[in-house]
Amino acid sequence: MADCLFCKIAAGAIPADIVHADEEFVAFRDIAPRAPVHVLLIPRRHIPSPGDLGDGDAALAGRLLVAAARIARELGLDATGFRWVLNSGADGGQTVPHLHLHVLGGRELGWPPG
Ligand code: AMP
Repeated sequence: MADCLFCKIAAGAIPADIVHADEEFVAFRDIAPRAPVHVLLIPRRHIPSPGDLGDGDAALAGRLLVAAARIARELGLDATGFRWVLNSGADGGQTVPHLHLHVLGGRELGWPPG
């Protein structure tokens, strides 16, 4: 989508600290990290939010989780643990309307979220 920040990052039109890129997904470090490791994993395809996933997206959603697990391992988080977060819509705290999975780790994370 032309005016989507994360579409532009996926296309290379806006710089980001990319940690993984393949045909379907891109992962890059969050510009305002909330943990020592904070990476965002996005599909290249513009899906506005988790709430927009439909039946036809089941395979993509599965591959998204597999890619997130691989990225967590590659970032060295699997030994100590990590958290995935998917915010959806205003009440969910979503600020960028392109589906993204947060991979957070490198310290003990509090629960429940504020
Ligand atoms: P959310 O609040 O779940 O929509 O998460 C959006 C995330 O995108 C926030 O954690 C922001 O810090 C992050 N963010 C916004 N702009 C950029 C950018 N240009 N590069 C990397 N991360 C960004």
